[in-house]
Amino acid sequence: MVKFEENVDLSKLCTIKIGGVAKKVYFPENKEDIKELIKLSLDTDKKLIPIGVGSNIVFRDGVLDYIFVSTSNLKKLDISKEDGNFIITAETGVSFKTLVNIVKKYNLEGFENLSGIPASIGGAVVMNAGAYGTEIFDLVEEVEWIDNKGVSHISKKENISYGYRCTQFQNEGFVYKVKIKLKKSEKNISEIIKNHLLERNKKQPLDLPTSGSTFKNPEGISAGYLLEKAGLKGFRIGDIGFSEKHANFTVNYGKGTFKQLKNLLEIAERRVGDYFEINLEKEIRIVE
Ligand SMILES: Cc1cc2nc3c(=O)[nH]c(=O)nc-3n(C[C@H](O)[C@H](O)[C@H](O)COP(=O)(O)OP(=O)(O)OC[C@H]3O[C@@H](n4cnc5c(N)ncnc54)[C@H](O)[C@@H]3O)c2cc1C
Repeated sequence: MVKFEENVDLSKLCTIKIGGVAKKVYFPENKEDIKELIKLSLDTDKKLIPIGVGSNIVFRDGVLDYIFVSTSNLKKLDISKEDGNFIITAETGVSFKTLVNIVKKYNLEGFENLSGIPASIGGAVVMNAGAYGTEIFDLVEEVEWIDNKGVSHISKKENISYGYRCTQFQNEGFVYKVKIKLKKSEKNISEIIKNHLLERNKKQPLDLPTSGSTFKNPEGISAGYLLEKAGLKGFRIGDIGFSEKHANFTVNYGKGTFKQLKNLLEIAERRVGDYFEINLEKEIRIVE
């Protein structure tokens, strides 16, 4: 029987800290547990919703009766060497914080631009998270995943479909394990990481609950620029608003609600549509 908790406050499972109550949240500890939950989802016809660090997901208010699956107990990690490269194989719940510590310890190159993204490795793979010109798929070798029917697959990167902040895993299954390759560096990786973190601190509202970038950047232009030009930087509805520091970051000033967030997103989409004739596409994943 997979471990679970009942009546879970979903605002505690997402970084913007809004949302209602989950009837149940499951905490699988291995691949068999995940398969059992996929079977439960099929048998009960309830959608399965994985939750990593919760930094790109928001939940509606009220009571939600899905098969919520937290990856927080899936944190096994293996480091090996192959042809002078470091191969890290991580279960989905391993955090970027943990990976940053490894990268600093062995002075490994490749991951540094991604430091500071508050992700689990699984969530990052599903979203193809990226920063400063690097995407997680630049480092991925293979992904072990379980499809919506409960069948396991190990897919090499070249057989995975992914693009800007999107991958096949957003619809097709549960990411269980990720293998990434990094190499020893001649550079001072800790110093580069320190600078990235300082840069993030300067530009992002890290003092408030936030779900990070709200909209994807349309081709050739940043969503933050469009929102700012449409007068939405610092614009708020109740306790939810676009940050004063970064127009594409939605923040919670205290008692924000999902309804306020929904209104805010609708206004932003309409305004940017009217001003620039551009349809903004949401990056954050909304669970209603
Ligand atoms: C302060 C801040 C800064 C950020 N900076 C960046 C940035 O620079 N670049 C960037 O790309 N993003 C950024 N983000 C967004 C976010 O951190 C990334 O999208 C991250 O990859 C999400 O990982 P997570 O573990 O939090 O996933 P979650 O938010 O928990 O989940 C995201 C989606 O993936 C699904 N999911 C999670 N785990 C699995 C799994 N194992 N299998 C299948 N589906 C799964 C969820 O159901 C959901 O749909 C930022 C967010 C914040 C709050």
